[in-house]
Amino acid sequence: MPHSTMLQHCNATPPRRHPKVLVILGATGAGKSKLSVDMASTFFPNSEIINSDKIQLYRGLDITTNKMTLSQQLGVTHHLLGQLDPVNSVSPSEFRSLGSAIIADIFARRRLPIIVGGSNSLIYALLVKRFDPDCDVFNGSKPDPVSSELRYNCCFIWVDVFLPVLNEYLNKRVDSMLNSGMLDELDEFFASPEFDSVSETGLKKAIGVPEFKKYLTNDCTNFEEDLYEEAVRNVKENTCQLAKRQMGKIQRLREGKWDLRRIDATAAFKAAMGLDGEKAARIWERQVVETSVKIVNRFLKD
Ligand code: ATP
Repeated sequence: MPHSTMLQHCNATPPRRHPKVLVILGATGAGKSKLSVDMASTFFPNSEIINSDKIQLYRGLDITTNKMTLSQQLGVTHHLLGQLDPVNSVSPSEFRSLGSAIIADIFARRRLPIIVGGSNSLIYALLVKRFDPDCDVFNGSKPDPVSSELRYNCCFIWVDVFLPVLNEYLNKRVDSMLNSGMLDELDEFFASPEFDSVSETGLKKAIGVPEFKKYLTNDCTNFEEDLYEEAVRNVKENTCQLAKRQMGKIQRLREGKWDLRRIDATAAFKAAMGLDGEKAARIWERQVVETSVKIVNRFLKD
């Protein structure tokens, strides 16, 4: 190397590297929240979670929207999880500003941000270098191109479950949400004095709200059982549709050259539905958590 070039190399300030962010994607029910808490609580205690599920941003309907309970959060700090007022709804641009301010604060405290949630439009808005709110990269007959220029150094983990297996699980999850008090929660929501002021484009779009409206706000008592059965059927169907749409959006990001590392959690789900809890936990640990931890360790070392 010529002497002058060597000097230039020695004096040059190292290029500023983008801050590191871990992103966990996946369809509803695939286990993103559990994986993030498992990793943060045991392997990466220096991290904090930022929710990117557009409905879980708001206060209220904790069962209906499947928020992690405080005990399930295992002491890991969560941001934007049920903290926003449902009177307003948050646009992707607003999420971009809220999320980036939180990421900057987490960096300033030398900790690792983990973005977790199923709303790919919010994840996209937060992460791309230049975000244009008028572009839609996911919907329509001719969506805009996906940008692969990101403003953080991201490690993407995509928790995937074979769709028919996930659908079976989602149907069971709806039943267990109903057993845990989803109907009472929705009943209180419709009857609350706050209801009218809640934004039509935020919390009121949660799966369960439109589906149970007729049953819970209906005056006549005829056909109540039919209305209930129909609402449950629609909640199950719409949840499975949501999962399928979310998978399509993840594929779109992959085609747009986002470097997503796919982790297959199907075997753990099959074992859990075969009612073998111990086997399911073992497979989850080995195939999902350990593989993810290896990927993240490599990313943090680079
Ligand atoms: P789009 O841009 O098409 O709205 P998105 O990727 O921004 O999609 P999704 O997370 O796919 O957002 O949510 C789309 C819809 O799915 C929501 O408007 C809501 O009806 C439903 N949904 C999403 N997350 C939840 C949740 N946690 N609880 C209940 N319903 C949800």
